[in-house]
Amino acid sequence: MKKNRRDISPSKKIFIALIAGLIFGIILHNFVPDSHFKNYILIEGIFYTLGQLFIRLMQMLVVPLVFFSIADGCRNLGDTETLGKVGIRIVVFYLFTTALAIVIALGLSSLIGPGKGMNMQIGDQNFEVANADISLKDTILDFIPTNPVGALAEGNMIQIIIFAVLVGLLIASMEDRLVSLGNIVTEMNDLMMGMTAWVMKLAPMGVFFLISRTFSNLGFDAILSMLSYMASVLGGLVVQLLVVYMILLTAFVRVNPFKFLKKYAPVMTFGFSTASSSATVPINIQTLEDMGVDRKISSFTIPLGATVNMDGTAIMQGVAVVFIANAYGITLSPTDFLTVILTATIASVGTAGIPSVGLVTLSMVLESVGLPVEGIAIIMGIDRILDMARTTINLSGDATGTIIVANSVGAFDKAKFNS
Ligand code: ASP
Repeated sequence: MKKNRRDISPSKKIFIALIAGLIFGIILHNFVPDSHFKNYILIEGIFYTLGQLFIRLMQMLVVPLVFFSIADGCRNLGDTETLGKVGIRIVVFYLFTTALAIVIALGLSSLIGPGKGMNMQIGDQNFEVANADISLKDTILDFIPTNPVGALAEGNMIQIIIFAVLVGLLIASMEDRLVSLGNIVTEMNDLMMGMTAWVMKLAPMGVFFLISRTFSNLGFDAILSMLSYMASVLGGLVVQLLVVYMILLTAFVRVNPFKFLKKYAPVMTFGFSTASSSATVPINIQTLEDMGVDRKISSFTIPLGATVNMDGTAIMQGVAVVFIANAYGITLSPTDFLTVILTATIASVGTAGIPSVGLVTLSMVLESVGLPVEGIAIIMGIDRILDMARTTINLSGDATGTIIVANSVGAFDKAKFNS
């Protein structure tokens, strides 16, 4: 077939949209004076509507895609032994990398010392805490849906995963009696994957409007005053991505980690634009499949990771603890550091991957070591940009774990990855 224009790959289109959105947003913020047209019609009208339209399309896919792909994956997997192996390995990986992420964050921010010399007094900030009482007991109990339909309606990821696993396993074990139900699950899964591919065609447009709006609203003065805090968070994120994940991929899978970065870039761009791991589940599964990961594994580990594995969020929380302690002149003991590692790891389990959720669970981490929760008010203004950055790391952690675990059970096609 003759092509009359140069073909640009979908991932390049998404990346170009990100850069274009960034430039457009910064120009709007700095060079176009505020007016009714700019603020209400363009930014909060057109940009907001088209950006949200795309996010909603992705969100529309998440629940049915997760449910049918897990049920279908477990049906094909058939044996509970492999499923158990995958389950245990991925949970160990997720918990270990999250704890490591907080250690990196605490170490790095103790070196850089964000917040030193701010001399904040308790009561300076007017800040009401959203109630984030998350006990371990409730977190565990909440894994089991009392009403599976309610879990689907609420989009409760862990509950959906558990119910879907049971549905898939039972269809496999009652194969002769549930033939048509098995076929329906497989066909619904194919339908959802087809719909994902269709919605993904709109990704460049969605990314452009989301990024333009964010950057046209961003106050750069606020960023300047919080530079050392931001540098500590971003530094921690970079170390987690370029050191921890790259070493793990090389050591356990023996693949070129830079190839991973290149192939995975569209997912990172998408996570950056939406700041939501949950909304990124469909493109994450799709991209990992193109990279050689069997969907039987990723359809289970990726939605699980979107809920329980938030290494980037944990890094922000580790740095925020040190920053707030410095700002209020409070010294943290080694026991406090251990408490932070534990609570921040637990806090990331059981909270959905949506924008800003890390700030809500941060209050629980601060309370665990007696730091003033009102300190969150200082970092709130610039959190959106860090939320975007940490979401990309949250996703990359899920993908790294998925590749390693898939490889360990023979469900990773290295030739496809290298092609
Ligand atoms: N936005 C993050 C995510 O979806 C969570 C957070 O840190 O707020 O993964």
